[in-house]
Amino acid sequence: MSAIPPPPPAGLSSAERDRILAKSALFNPPPPVLTDGRRELVGLSREELAAEMLAMGEKPFRAKQLWHWIYHQGVTDFAAMSSIAAPMRARLAERFVIGRPEVALAQTSKDETRKWLFRWRDGQQVETVYIPDPEEDRGAVCISTQVGCTLSCRFCHTGTQKLVRNLGAAEIVGQFIAARDAYGEWPSPKDDVPRRLSTIVVMGMGEPLYNYENTAKALRIIMDAEGIGLSRRRITLSTSGVVPMMDRCGQELGVNLAVSLHAVTDALRDEIVPLNRKYPIAELLAACRRYPGASNARRITFEYVMLRGVNDSEAEARELVRLLRGLPAKVNLIPFNPWPGSPYQTSTHEQTAKFAAVLNEAGYSSPIRRPRGRDILAACGQLKTEGERLRRAAG
Ligand code: SAH
Ligand code: SF4
Repeated sequence: MSAIPPPPPAGLSSAERDRILAKSALFNPPPPVLTDGRRELVGLSREELAAEMLAMGEKPFRAKQLWHWIYHQGVTDFAAMSSIAAPMRARLAERFVIGRPEVALAQTSKDETRKWLFRWRDGQQVETVYIPDPEEDRGAVCISTQVGCTLSCRFCHTGTQKLVRNLGAAEIVGQFIAARDAYGEWPSPKDDVPRRLSTIVVMGMGEPLYNYENTAKALRIIMDAEGIGLSRRRITLSTSGVVPMMDRCGQELGVNLAVSLHAVTDALRDEIVPLNRKYPIAELLAACRRYPGASNARRITFEYVMLRGVNDSEAEARELVRLLRGLPAKVNLIPFNPWPGSPYQTSTHEQTAKFAAVLNEAGYSSPIRRPRGRDILAACGQLKTEGERLRRAAG
């Protein structure tokens, strides 16, 4: 790995990035303000919180106090903020709320995976999943970034639901803190104190790099050391390959990157991950090669869904090895998770093991993911919310 990543090719202009961001803004959520005018504090950056305090005629240190109560202590009631005098608490409560999404449904799988259907103030809903480690007291929270998805990967349930809107920073942070509420994990554990909700995978509904601003803002809040304080090394963002936004994600957030590859030829990837028509495999891998911070200690994860007879031959495994050469990479082999009406079958266990063996022999770690939460449709690619289906039925 060279220390200086090669510059992006000239074709990846900032104009293209601006176009993506402008389009994304069209799908922004309604402002986080209640009908009575009170403003949601969750999801404000530190600077925005300080500006709100200033507008009330308060000193900026109030923002620091609030940050501590909201993100370190997990408090939702101003009355519990004992370091703030009672009259001030009352003034805050007149103007602001510290909200949580409404839990429309919570389900627990027989393997302990937990799935929530969260409802926002405008009635839109997303799913969030907690996947506990079967052996140790830790686990990953899989969070969503959009209601639906503009992309339509053929094997993905979310991809059958058109994009309704982006989630705001409050809603992205809100999923994680609501999951923490469910397990009572407050105050936020400091430094190396073990956490039950120990990692975040941005792998739920939606394409995070098509909702970059809100996702980045939310992750910055979650990483802030004076609040939740989850390190960037414990956060993995998965993209289907929005190449122009990958550099920014690496430079600005420095979180781990996962890339949904799923095919080794453009012909097949064009078909199953249609975004490939815009950003083909060579461009995607070039963006991976220059991803800031990628190293053998921090490898890029390539996700590869095992589709029987479609992408699972040993020849394809060998081609994958060739494509990944020189990249600090590991490969997650994900058995295809079926959903109602899905057009594929998962590869046989033997075939998956053969595929993994080719990768392993070439020196790539390639764990076969154990499907989790399938019985409650909580596994990778099974998430989809009622919203659209209900509307369709009505219209
Ligand atoms: N939009 C992002 C993140 C959400 S999807 C992305 O595509 O990367 C999270 C992962 O689940 C992706 O790797 C996706 O390709 C995979 N996935 C989607 N549908 C699946 C299914 N039915 N079975 C197994 N994995 C699936
Ligand atoms: Fe969207 Fe990811 Fe599903 Fe593709 S796999 S449709 S990008 S959520």
